Amino acid sequence: MTDAPFSAEQQEYLKGFMAGVEARRGSILPAGEGGGPPDALRAAQDATIARGGKLVPQEEAKRARHPLDRWDELTARAADGKFPKPIDDFIGRYHGLFFVGPTQDAFMCRLRIPGGILAAHQLEAIARIAEDCAGGYADVTTRANLQLREIPAAKGPEVVMRLGDIGLLPRGTGADNIRNITASPTAGIDAQELIDTRPLVRALHHHILHTRDLFALPRKFNISIAGGGAVEVLQETNDISLSAVETVAGLRFRLTLGGITGHRDFARGTGVVVTEADVVAVCDAILRVFIAEGDRTDRKTARLKYVLDRMGIEAFLGLVEQRLGRPLERLAEDAIRTPPPPAKHGHVGVHAQKQTGLFYIGVVTPLGRLTVAQLDGLAAVARRFGSGTIRLTVWQNLLISDVPEERLPDALAAIAALGLTHEASALRGGLVACTGNAGCKFAASNTKRHAAQLADFLEERIAVDMPVNIHLTGCHHSCAQHYIADIGLLGAKVERGDDLVEGYDLHVGGGAGPEQRIGRLIRPKVAHDELGQAVLGLLRGWMASRSAGETFHLF
Ligand code: SF4
Repeated sequence: MTDAPFSAEQQEYLKGFMAGVEARRGSILPAGEGGGPPDALRAAQDATIARGGKLVPQEEAKRARHPLDRWDELTARAADGKFPKPIDDFIGRYHGLFFVGPTQDAFMCRLRIPGGILAAHQLEAIARIAEDCAGGYADVTTRANLQLREIPAAKGPEVVMRLGDIGLLPRGTGADNIRNITASPTAGIDAQELIDTRPLVRALHHHILHTRDLFALPRKFNISIAGGGAVEVLQETNDISLSAVETVAGLRFRLTLGGITGHRDFARGTGVVVTEADVVAVCDAILRVFIAEGDRTDRKTARLKYVLDRMGIEAFLGLVEQRLGRPLERLAEDAIRTPPPPAKHGHVGVHAQKQTGLFYIGVVTPLGRLTVAQLDGLAAVARRFGSGTIRLTVWQNLLISDVPEERLPDALAAIAALGLTHEASALRGGLVACTGNAGCKFAASNTKRHAAQLADFLEERIAVDMPVNIHLTGCHHSCAQHYIADIGLLGAKVERGDDLVEGYDLHVGGGAGPEQRIGRLIRPKVAHDELGQAVLGLLRGWMASRSAGETFHLF
């Protein structure tokens, strides 16, 4: 039997089909037989070398064998009960496992929870993983995510596989990858929101996970999508920030780029707005330009901010448009109306939903740490009194949604029985701390312990009547974003006689959203045991001298 020749119509179809395959090559297809570096990575590295640049060791490691293809190395080491050496640790982070030695002889696993929204059965499964394979607790992070700690070497792959079993594969949660997408935690239940971000976050999350080229970045990358709801998402601290707005052309997301507050920069305006239907395509194009243009010779200047500083925003957007094959939509400021700002500390307490008769409860966690019993208990509360939905926030706390009004008293009592609360003082509601030196080698101080001590000290001495955010971060990586806090504390070693003690550089006046401002250093090197008095003095000064309604931010 011979092949029949294709008709002109069939040939035209095949030409289009193959053009589509070529266009998507490296995005849905593995590059090369049996995988290999994504095409975009190879091209960006080749361009760097052609310009005479020397790739940093992390880039050389990716070039030798792409980290996504090195799961076998990770499992082989685990079978021998060994933790990775530094460059292998970098590779392992593509699979969500971080070796946190020498602070702890253990792995940390960072999850990937799109928009921070979980089902009760997932939280219960996480509790079992924490119990069987980790330290018996989970930490809520400042990206509305969870981290498991104290994972022995042999259990690392098991944690990753068990998370994959429940639809939470932690791929790309560390190293040079796109981190957990943050979004409005009240999406779909918020009377104030303009756009329910859940379908978009889901689509973008899967696009990232299934697009091999997007594991070719020169450095980490953060994306946030705010729907205009009542809970602050801190979207302007992200590399890509999309915020829902009303415009003369209908609902859109306002695009800002290059936020990195650890480097003292908020995302900058672009004049571009994006429709819901275009979010994935625009994000993809931005990421591909970053992959091509990001610095692969110096880790310190490899983030998107530095590409924008070098090229300027218009030149960068021009390349994005080239990738898209069409112009971006631009609107003047007077054609855009922003929604009311989120309530400061709106993530705490009981709030009515847009669904009549239903409420969400903002539960305060002790600096993000939840024991196995509390994880199980919260899943049970969500299932018994709500719809079985748990929503993590960037404030290291969580919401239980869809609770009928008549069930609120019982739900609150069940939360209290877990040792948790829906109430917090104006100081504790915005108290955030990174992992600190109990679990992170970069930390100068024990941030979580000092944060708890600071809150106890202050609450005994002063009744603050307006929300004040206090963020403690252990090092300049600024995971707890000290620059955008009303009171921002950056870990520092402090001389005391011949010794060095733990302490902090004290910053004030930072803020996000309508209060956007980078905090300023007012007192360096305050020892941890003098912190209470120093902060108390600031708060008393503000309360004594403020004019009516003046927030701490303006002080
Ligand atoms: Fe570790 Fe520094 Fe991040 Fe704190 S801010 S968790 S010390 S890297």
